[in-house]
Parts: sequence; structure tokens; C-alpha cells
Amino acid sequence: MTDCIFCKIIKGDIPSFKIYEDDKVFAFLDIAEDYYGHTLVVSKQHCTNILDCDSQTLNAVMHAVQKISRHYVEDCGFQGVNVINNSGECSGQSVMHFHVHILPRKSDDGVDLWPAREKLGVDLKALHEALRMK
Ligand code: 5GP
Ligand code: ZN
Repeated sequence: MTDCIFCKIIKGDIPSFKIYEDDKVFAFLDIAEDYYGHTLVVSKQHCTNILDCDSQTLNAVMHAVQKISRHYVEDCGFQGVNVINNSGECSGQSVMHFHVHILPRKSDDGVDLWPAREKLGVDLKALHEALRMK
């Protein structure tokens, strides 16, 4: 896609700090510099997000996510990772090309990505009826 920023990064038209590449996947450091080692794992095939990508593309991206995560833990001194995907504008997706964020983690890094919240007080039985796949 000509006007897609991640397609341009994959082609090399926009520079990036590449972490990993194979025939289906390209991974590079996020420009935000908000979390130490924040990495984007991107499908080479342009699709919008997890809702429309084909299963081969999804498998390739998730396989690369595991490979890179293992590298961060086994070779780079991290102890774990958060793996995040935003799909849809409502979820916070800002670049409409399928990608997965890896945030490498250390136990003492002080990051809290999932702060505790008040219980919603929903009726779980009704919720289950509304959401279960029939
Ligand atoms: P989203 O919000 O769509 O889940 O994530 C998009 C991410 O792409 C953001 O974290 C943003 O910082 C990153 N990003 C946007 N433009 C560029 C760019 O030109 N280069 C790099 N390396 N990252 C980018
Ligand atoms: Zn694209």
C-alpha cells in the first residue's frame, strides 16, 4: 500500500532500527521510545489488523513474536515480555497495518501496564449468554 507508513518501512523507504526479518515478517524498534526495547512486529503483507489478516500471516507474525521474545529473555537480560495488539481505532490502533507490540520486561522496571480497576459489577451469567459463541 503506497501511503502506508509500515509498508514504506518494510520497503526501506523510511529508515528503521531492524530487529528481525524473514520472508513474511519485519520487526523494528518503535519510534515512541516510551518503553525500553519497545518493538513492533509487522506482517510484510499489508492487512489492517487481526480482524482481517489471513491465518498464515497471523501464524508468521506470532511465531516471530515468540522468537524475538525468547531472544530478549535468553540473550538480552530481560525476564519476560508483554505482547499487545491493538485492532481497530476504538482499541487505540493508530497505524492501520497489522502489527504486534513487544514490551520487554524486567521485574524491577516499575512499569504497570494493567493497573487495578474497580469491579464493574456486571452479571457474569448474562454477560456469558451475550458473548459466548453459539
Ligand atoms: P498502534 O497505536 O497502531 O497500536 O501502534 C503504532 C505504533 O507505531 C506506535 O507505537 C507508534 O509509536 C509507532 N510508529 C508510528 N510511526 C512510526 C515510524 O515512522 N517509525 C517507527 N519505528 N514507529 C512508528
Ligand atoms: Zn501497509
